[in-house]
Amino acid sequence: MPEKKKQHKQNKSGAAAPAKKKKCKKASTEKEVSERQRRILEIKKTLVQQKEQLLQEAGSALNTLPDENAFPDMGDQATAEIDRNFMLRLRGREQRLLKKIELALERIDNDTYGVCDICGCEIGIRRLEVRPVTTMCIECKTEQEEEEKVIEP
Ligand SMILES: [Zn+2]
Repeated sequence: MPEKKKQHKQNKSGAAAPAKKKKCKKASTEKEVSERQRRILEIKKTLVQQKEQLLQEAGSALNTLPDENAFPDMGDQATAEIDRNFMLRLRGREQRLLKKIELALERIDNDTYGVCDICGCEIGIRRLEVRPVTTMCIECKTEQEEEEKVIEP
């Protein structure tokens, strides 16, 4: 009998599996690269808009506050209150989203956008268009979710 195909099973003696070296699918032809860049620029526009919208929604609290002159004695206090309101408004989900958007925009400017944090491969452009703030490719994300399911009691 010719040699059997070895089943590729990870892990020896239960040691944590090291990050798999995966073959990256990369945009290779010039056409693919420029198409990807064009679509990333579209994503950038969307992200900028989304960021502005988030800030605007949070900031709309400012516009609904009474005029400062209505309370002449509490100038500084009112300003402090406005700041606090703004931060409260921008709490939680929005604040996290805003951070992610800023990070994504930074990465676009640094030319490091769309690269998976885990495996270093390019994230599919279609995935980026659906989830522009993602930092993981679909394979790594799926793997992570599966691991979490296992780990969770
Ligand atoms: Zn990955």
